[in-house]
Amino acid sequence: RQSSKLSIQDQRKSLPIYKLKKELLQAVHDNQVLVVVGETGSGKTTQVTQYLAEAGYTTSGKIGCTQPRRVAATSVAKRVAEEFGCRVGEEVGYAIRFDDHTCADTVIKYMTDGMLMTEMLIDENLSQYSIIMLDEAHERTLHTDILFGLLKRLVRRRPDLRLIITSATLDAEKFSGYFFSCNIFTIPGRTFPVEILYAIQPKSDYLEAAVTTVMEIHLTEPEGDILVFLTGEDEIDHACQCLREKMKGLGKNVPELITLKAHSALPSEILFRIFDPAPPGKRKVVVATNIAEASLTIDGIYYVIDSGFAKQNVYNPKQGLESLVITPISQASAKQRAGRAGRTGPGKCYRLYTESAFHNEMSPTPIPEIQRINLGLATLNMKAIGINDLLSFDFMDSPSPQALISAMEQLYSLGALDEEGLLTRLGRKMAEFPMEPPLSKMLLASVDLGCSDEILTIVAMIQAGHVFHRPGEKQTQADQKRAKFFQPQGDHLTLLAVYEAWKAKGFSKPWCRENFVQSESLKRAQDVRKQLISLMDRYKLDIVSAGKNDWKIRKAITAGFFFHAAKKDPQEGYRTLVENQPVYIHPSSVLFERKPDWVIYNELVMTTKEYMREVIVVDPKWLVEVAPRFFKVADLTKMSKRKR
Ligand code: ADP
Ligand code: MG
Repeated sequence: RQSSKLSIQDQRKSLPIYKLKKELLQAVHDNQVLVVVGETGSGKTTQVTQYLAEAGYTTSGKIGCTQPRRVAATSVAKRVAEEFGCRVGEEVGYAIRFDDHTCADTVIKYMTDGMLMTEMLIDENLSQYSIIMLDEAHERTLHTDILFGLLKRLVRRRPDLRLIITSATLDAEKFSGYFFSCNIFTIPGRTFPVEILYAIQPKSDYLEAAVTTVMEIHLTEPEGDILVFLTGEDEIDHACQCLREKMKGLGKNVPELITLKAHSALPSEILFRIFDPAPPGKRKVVVATNIAEASLTIDGIYYVIDSGFAKQNVYNPKQGLESLVITPISQASAKQRAGRAGRTGPGKCYRLYTESAFHNEMSPTPIPEIQRINLGLATLNMKAIGINDLLSFDFMDSPSPQALISAMEQLYSLGALDEEGLLTRLGRKMAEFPMEPPLSKMLLASVDLGCSDEILTIVAMIQAGHVFHRPGEKQTQADQKRAKFFQPQGDHLTLLAVYEAWKAKGFSKPWCRENFVQSESLKRAQDVRKQLISLMDRYKLDIVSAGKNDWKIRKAITAGFFFHAAKKDPQEGYRTLVENQPVYIHPSSVLFERKPDWVIYNELVMTTKEYMREVIVVDPKWLVEVAPRFFKVADLTKMSKRKR
């Protein structure tokens, strides 16, 4: 069962799509718009672009291929560059937000769907491209859905532009229907049966159940690698640690189990280890988020363990609140996950939920992102492209009018739209920055307030992911180190202090280790900061430091996040200013003990309670100053007591 070491070109030839190369190229030649369906791992993402390049489509323009996920865009580009025989950033490159690895010679460009959307702001005809491939369209991300509509209009204007939409699932008919009933090209699957095993009883703790199941498989089942689906970085770290401890407990009598992680915060050198076959006699287990569901394919998997959950951004338009929530996956996702076990031979899928939960508690297909998240940035971008009437835009699945209206209200209160719903000058500037409107507003406000140097760092740190590292065995030590960075006025300033301290140490990696700070996150923050500075330079925006005046920084944060204000509840916890929701300061916050009267939070995380993460002290007077359109009623006290 061991994967043989094929040369990279032989590997390419062994993919199901290879046999259909001629037919595929013919179909692309004959159809301006084509839907391509095929099992995950058949070679759509890595091969189609190369076939098109070989066939000469790059003489009239670039081949652009979009990916819903950043890691997929970068890792696929690296793989394809290797196959193509160049370095990434040369003929084959990628562009994701805050990270552009392309040059004038780039002919195959992988990018996030968000990037292509941003490119349409600059050139709505995408005149650099001869072909656009909207890949992994079944994921139905917000940007893919908007691009559907924009590209549907564009192919009418540009008869020379070709459009390929690829999907791993059976949404093909729906896609074809939307795109003028275009043809569907099917790559026959090459899959083996997968036996599905359900939990007999609901599991109270899927993480623990996953660890136990891995050990059972390892000790009782024949050779073959294991793929585990959990929801996020923390869970994955925890599961891997448990597995290592259990293996240590068993001593040398059992075969080695190699634990590997796959999630989007990993640098690609580390992520790529999941593709290395396990040495003979050893088994590998990959513990992953849903990036391994369709975006990345790992060969040699015989066992899949499916927690049944994924982290999703969920937005409640009525409350104007967005949070990352662990939610049950759809039946389609569960089938996709199970399918990962049947690529190399007959496999098994252990579902850590009951058969009745599968049928009764999971929706048949995932809900498109456009119907469940905040549409602020999407609305801003569409307005900047010149689409003013969003309510009658030709969406494949329309967002609710309520969600669109609430996005427009948000943009109006941020000052990005005027009374008529048209983009203001501020709004146009905000659209130049590839980030959520509150963040771009905060950045632009910081220029006026004279604290853009600090806000740049804070924006970068917020985008960078987990900063503090808290290993199980050294928690006290980690907490002590962390306390050294604490800033009494709030977590944003603490993040700033960490970055400044790291910078003072010459961006040192050993310093990160000593201080229990994730060096990858800081590195990412540094990259984001650099890219933001080049955008600031391009638009001639000043970079100024607030010096000792940290109120300026807090006021700039207020200018972007005023609708995340919360007031202390005399009874317990806090109440949000919008909708009067009960919320609590997260125990990891600097302000957890102090509990000031007014705070602004960066995000809400729902665990046992609705927690505010990254919290900062604010002066309620600022709210009216920075958002007069939002707080038309100056009496905030009265407002926060308003009945729900
Ligand atoms: P699809 O898009 O149809 O799901 P892909 O083109 O992504 O298929 O994958 C084709 C094959 O390339 C898979 O077998 C996968 O394992 C392999 N592959 C992709 N990236 C890498 C990599 N970095 N290292 C080794 N193999 C890879
Ligand atoms: Mg793919």
